[in-house]
Order: sequence, then C-alpha cells, then structure tokens
Amino acid sequence: MSTSPTYISYPFTEFQGDLKAVANELPTPTGTQVLVKVEYCGVCHSDVHLHDGYYELGQGKKLKLEERGIHLPVTLGHEIVGRVVAAGEEAGELPEGPALVYPWTGCGECSVCRRGEENLCSRPAALGVHKPGGYAQYVLVPHPRYIMSIGKLNPAHASLLACSGLTTYSAIKKIGTVYDDESVVVVGCGGLGLLAIRILALRGVKNIIALDLAAEKRELAVQVGATATFDPASEKVIQNIQAAAREKCVAVLDFVGSGPTVELGIALPRRGGKVIVVGLHGGELRYPIPYVITRAISIIGSYTGSLPEQRELVEFAQQHELFNFPIRTRPLHEANDALRDLARGKVQGRVVLDNR
Ligand SMILES: [Zn+2]
Ligand SMILES: [Zn+2]
Repeated sequence: MSTSPTYISYPFTEFQGDLKAVANELPTPTGTQVLVKVEYCGVCHSDVHLHDGYYELGQGKKLKLEERGIHLPVTLGHEIVGRVVAAGEEAGELPEGPALVYPWTGCGECSVCRRGEENLCSRPAALGVHKPGGYAQYVLVPHPRYIMSIGKLNPAHASLLACSGLTTYSAIKKIGTVYDDESVVVVGCGGLGLLAIRILALRGVKNIIALDLAAEKRELAVQVGATATFDPASEKVIQNIQAAAREKCVAVLDFVGSGPTVELGIALPRRGGKVIVVGLHGGELRYPIPYVITRAISIIGSYTGSLPEQRELVEFAQQHELFNFPIRTRPLHEANDALRDLARGKVQGRVVLDNR
C-alpha cells in the first residue's frame, strides 16, 4: 500500500460550525497551477461573515452565501503569504522567496478577467471563498500571475495587503487626482478608514476630513493624518464639513455603507465629485435623480481590488510603513479559536495565522 503525502487544512462543514483539522492528499499541480506552502494567513472580518453564512442587507434582510455560489465545506483564508513549492509544466516563471497571493481570482477567460478585474468576474473563484484558502498548510493557486514577491516586507504584515490593504487602496485609486486645495472625506475610522487616511496622506492629499461617531476613533484619525474630524451626529454637520472643505470636497470614501452615511456622503462632494462606498453595513438609498445629473456626482461601489492594483500596492508598501496597529500571530492549528475570538470582538488590531 502506498501512502501519498498529505497536508492539514481547517475547513468548516456547516455554517457557524467549528473549523476542524482535516488531512488531505497533497495535490500535484498541473498546467499553470502553482502549489504554495502557506506561511502566514490573516484572519479577516469577512471570514466571520463567510462563516456565518450570510451578509446583513439591513431591515432584517439577509444575503445568503449559499445562494452566491459558496458551497460547503469551506476552507477560509484570503490573506495568504507563502512560498512556491511546486508548479505545473506550463506555469513558467515563478516568484522566489516569500510571496503574496492575490486571492480574488475569476474565471481568467472572460472580458472582465482579461481587463485585469478578476475580482469582478461573474464566475468568481476566489481563494478562501469559493476555492480552498489559506487556513491550511498548502494552497493551490491557478496561475503564477497571482503570486508576487514581497521582497523585504514583514511577511505577517504583508498578508493584510490582500484584503484590507487592497480594498482601501482600490477605493482610493477611484478618486483620481486630488489638488492641494481640494479635500477628501473619510467616513468611518475603523481599520480600513484609518488605513485609508494613512494612504491618502502618504499620497500627498493635503486636506483629509474624517468622520466617526466615537471620539477616540476621531483622535486616532488625526494621529494617522486627518486634518479635521467631525462627529456625523453633531448639529449642522454638513455645513461644518463644507466649511472645513471650503466647498472643494472631490470625493467621499464611505467605509460604513449604511443608509445614513451614504445620505450624508452624497450631500458633500462638489459638482463632478464622487461618493465611493466600501462598507457593507447595509440599508437603502433614496435620492432625487435630477440632482445626480445637475451635480454630476458619481456613486461608486468598490469591492476588493484588481490584480494590477494589488501589484501596485505591494510596491507602495515597500516604500512606506502602512500598518501601525497591533498585529499578533497565532499558530495555524488555532484557526478556529482565532476566528471565534474575532467574531466575539476580542481581537485588538489584527490576527495572522502562522504556519512556518
Ligand atoms: Zn472572468
Ligand atoms: Zn478580507
């Protein structure tokens, strides 16, 4: 009897059920496939939603993930840093050393994918969502173009570039040019909002206005580069923001994405400005259509980011210190506890699973 090599992964077999160790046969990559040994994998808030099995749509409505092509068992983990250990004969050139895996893979063939926007493919095959992800010792990646060397970056930190980093960066890229006398408004100063403020400041944006209900988060926003902050529930907030922006708000980045935040956001941009919504809090929007036209505003949804943006972000991160919040590592076999702790709100900063 021959025994083939195996590896351990930590899937769940029912939504909200425990993540349990499973031994799998180690796959032999074929064609363009690449086998990556996972070194680090971030435990992301979206993993909590995937594990729950639904997204809240607001007003008691839920978006069930089973109806969105996500099938059990699921091996989570879309923030992967690892090393290439094997590749199919058509894989071509492979990155050396620790590398980041772009997880938002699509079919690879349709016009959306050919444009490099695989994250928006209608036949998504994202790692850690539709395909087995990095809560495992190994992950199979369909093509080496999704794998990029991280150089001297701290590999545990670099893993966060695949989701929170990319989501933030892609939203910021949608703004376009910001002149020195113009302003960008950031709504919500949690992890993504703070990272956005930091990246905007590093990209040279001079006026960054941050909104959050919590005073301590507004304080953090100033520490990372916000030039003015407001409590969105305060009186005359729109007039006060307009005064701080000198009526030159080019874009609003909304990391909350609720009815009230989008409604507030829409009131702020100058003519031709943009409202870029990232947060998935949920809710609905009613707004008079003629104003959309006469103000020439754009309301843009932003979901993760493209493969070219991921490469740009890895370059950008090599030139700047992006993450200034606590990042803790836990051994891979604690995946279940790490996810549960995050769901219970017990995690300060971020947790990254360690499989070195
Ligand atoms: Zn596609
Ligand atoms: Zn994520």
